[in-house]
This record gives sequence, structure tokens and C-alpha cells, in this order.
Amino acid sequence: MKILLTNDDGIHAPGLLAAARVLASVGELHIVAPSREQSGVGSALTLHDAIPVSAVDTDELLGDEAGTQYPITGFSVQGTPADSCVLALERLVGPVDLVVSGINRGSNLGGDILISGTVGAALQGFLRGFPTIAISVGSVQNPQFDGAARLLRLLAAQLSRNPPPRTTSPRTSFNEAFFLNVNLPNVPLSEINGVQITRLGGRSYGESVREEGSEEPKKYRISRNKPISGENPEGTDIWALKNNRISITPLRVDLTNGDQIPPLESLLADIPAQLLQRQD
Ligand code: MN
Repeated sequence: MKILLTNDDGIHAPGLLAAARVLASVGELHIVAPSREQSGVGSALTLHDAIPVSAVDTDELLGDEAGTQYPITGFSVQGTPADSCVLALERLVGPVDLVVSGINRGSNLGGDILISGTVGAALQGFLRGFPTIAISVGSVQNPQFDGAARLLRLLAAQLSRNPPPRTTSPRTSFNEAFFLNVNLPNVPLSEINGVQITRLGGRSYGESVREEGSEEPKKYRISRNKPISGENPEGTDIWALKNNRISITPLRVDLTNGDQIPPLESLLADIPAQLLQRQD
């Protein structure tokens, strides 16, 4: 099994190293990750600059614990998480059997996954038709990666034994492989209440803005620290984590809101005639 590992916390992040140590025992491992922390950059790609890439000594990166019979390579990318995944799959590594992004420090739940660099990197694996896992632990403070690493080993081994079928989606006309967004509560495995297959909930955190300094030009700092109170019913990823369950949400890309199509058709009914009216 050939595995690509990336993240958005940077190639030296403890969560990525925890993932690397377990994945190195499952198959050939290629680590291609940003050189520095890139959380919150979503699916951004660098299209207006060339992206510097350096090979990384994986023995030094992973230490002695990574004794493995499989080859390991590593590349540090001075770009975004999505850049790392694209460079890996298109050039540095080529096709793989599994793409893993994480283990992220902090949850990626509900609508907030749209700004997640962890999910943004993983998206590039999914778009190319490779089975893909984004995995996060639900705390930025003192995150515990052992449970997530253990789950990752089980998921990778299961996918290796039973490769999921790829289907071509009639909506997107590309091969849809598994794209799993996995989140774990930051508690010991002994306190976990189960593993739940979920749907995305609403947003979990909103932005607050404060002014910083007094010089011109004015500066403002955006923080994602405003809790959002809203319904997160049973079956959503946010509900699962609140109830100390591991959440696994299968994702796709289609964001179309089908419910809004009929009201929109009636709201805009007169627009085509007005817009296209010939005045000659
Ligand atoms: Mn992150």
C-alpha cells in the first residue's frame, strides 16, 4: 500500500509525526507537508509563484521509532496544504492508495471544514479519485494523538484489505472515492462512547475581530473564538464530539442547495425576459 501523508500544522507538527509512525507500519509512506503552520487556509493553492520544495531526512524527522520494512520519503513544501497534496500526487509521489491529512490539532467540524487546511489538502486527494482521510483531534490545547493514531492504523489497514470501489458521480463526472472527515474528542480511548458515522453539523466557531496597535494603517486581528449556539442534532459531527464519540463523516464536493432551486426559480422568473429584452 502506498500512502501520502500531509497536514496543515506543518511537517514538524506532533500530530503528523504520530500519524507517520503508525502509517509507516502499514505501507510505503510519502510525507509531503507545508514547511510551517498553515491552519485555516482552506483549499488555497499558490498559482502566482513557484513553490520551493526540499527533501527531508525522514530518519531525523521520525526518530528511531519509525523502524519499518517499507520505504519512507519526505518533502517540505513552502506553500499551502493543498499545494503539498497537488505537488505530491502530480509530481513528487504520483498515484497512491490512500491520502491522509492530519492528525490535526483542533477539530474540523460542520461548516467550518470549508476553511480547514487539513480538509483543504485532503480535498485534492479526493478530487483525483484517491481514498482520502482528513483526521483531527478536538482540542488545540494539549491534544492527545494516541487514539487518533491507533484509529488511523485500523482505517488504513481496513482500506488496504478492502479497497473501496470508486464510482463516477453523475453530478460531478469524476471518480468519487471515500473522502472521510474523522474527528476524535480529546479524551483517552477508555472514555470514548463509540464511533459514529455522521453528517456535517452547522458551524462550530465564528470569527471575532479586534483592533490591534494604534499606527496607520490600522490593523485588525481575526480570531475564531466565538462559540456559535445553534441546533446540532443527533447524527451530526458536532453532536458526536459533544457526546464523546468519534465522528466519521463521508464528504463530497457538491454544495448545491437543492431546496432553494424552486423558490429561486419563482423569485427570478421575470429576470430572463427583462435581461434579454431586445431594444431595437
Ligand atoms: Mn491545523
